[in-house]
Amino acid sequence: MFDVQKVRADFPILKQEVNGKPLVYFDNGATSQTPQQVIDTIVDYYSRYNANIHRGVHTLSQLATDAYEIARNKIQHHFNAKHSYEIILTSGTTESINLVANGFASILQKGDEIIVSALEHHSNIVPWQMLCEHTGAVLKVIPMSVEGELLMEAYDDLLSNKTKLVFCNHISNALGTINPIEYIIQKAHEVGAAVLIDGAQACPHLKPDVQALDVDFYVASAHKMCGPTGVGMLYGKEEWLRKLPPYKGGGEMIATVSFEKTTYADLPHKFEAGTPNICGGIAFGAAVDYMNHIGFDAIAKQEQELLEYGTQKLHEIEGVTIYGPSDLTRKASVISFNIEGIHPYDIGTIIDKLGIAVRTGHHCAQPIMDFFKIPGTIRASFAFYNTKEEIDIFVEAVKKAKLMLS
Ligand SMILES: *Cc1c(COP(=O)(O)O)cnc(C)c1O
Repeated sequence: MFDVQKVRADFPILKQEVNGKPLVYFDNGATSQTPQQVIDTIVDYYSRYNANIHRGVHTLSQLATDAYEIARNKIQHHFNAKHSYEIILTSGTTESINLVANGFASILQKGDEIIVSALEHHSNIVPWQMLCEHTGAVLKVIPMSVEGELLMEAYDDLLSNKTKLVFCNHISNALGTINPIEYIIQKAHEVGAAVLIDGAQACPHLKPDVQALDVDFYVASAHKMCGPTGVGMLYGKEEWLRKLPPYKGGGEMIATVSFEKTTYADLPHKFEAGTPNICGGIAFGAAVDYMNHIGFDAIAKQEQELLEYGTQKLHEIEGVTIYGPSDLTRKASVISFNIEGIHPYDIGTIIDKLGIAVRTGHHCAQPIMDFFKIPGTIRASFAFYNTKEEIDIFVEAVKKAKLMLS
């Protein structure tokens, strides 16, 4: 049985007061909170076996190396990758995407096409623009509906034998839309294109199976799924990872070095130059354990209830517009909204004084805001450790802010 109060007890940060009020943390889309189990893993690493990995014969180095590789295996099993060396540990989603973009610079030719979705995070737009400038490839965009859903007929029309790469997020961070990635992957493969899915916003809510999806690349950040910042992963199919050139040069990524010729290390080390975020990687493994211990069925159920309750409550406020799919089974527990005549920033500032953390602004997704012709939204994003009582406090605070501002 899922007991939210019991789960909340795992998160020390949730017990505190902010501006004299109990913290209501609804900014999980930006970063999630960290359970004691993950904090303990970090403390344990620095207290007991902090050492560089893969480099020393000494005991601490071996302990650290083992723990790091065990974490990689946990991540492999979580995403159901076929081999552990198909999991590249990176500094996060942004670096993972850049790694792939950099690799495709040597594959793409002038006139090739890259398709991205209109629902992208900036980190999923800029690397492709840079890649297009560099290679002469052309960027195409899958448009979306007024409900913030990608238009699959338009996508079908964009695909051709010129398409080499398709990029899409699994779940939109700005609107919460769950994108039809199975369809997107299948159709891209029909024209021989590779697909990279940005799972940064999906992994807190569900457990992707990269083999069932048959996806070529899948990326995520630990800090959105109960882990620390500064670590994330790239899953790549073995054949792709062998084909792509290394991203960074340095220690750990080489097999032999001479001034005439350097040979690269095998996977995954080919893509892991320099000393990685060792503690972060180990803690990422602990975060994956923690989320699986809570269970993704329980997580989905709790979050869907919060989404339905929060949506209904917010609609009771006059002048509220909620962006994204109205069919709540097609979105994650994210409510992006505005109140007529009031700037989102002003609401965010007032409710912060009442202890409530939400995100206001363009959510690193300026093109989506331009589409709706708004400066930004207020985004409340719920995690499994949030409660209906917190939603009540939040809605009361929004009402109060609205009264003060109108
Ligand atoms: C947060 C986020 C990113 C960026 O993740 P970083 O951890 O900052 O690299 C990319 N895409 C989506 C959809 C996100 O939500």
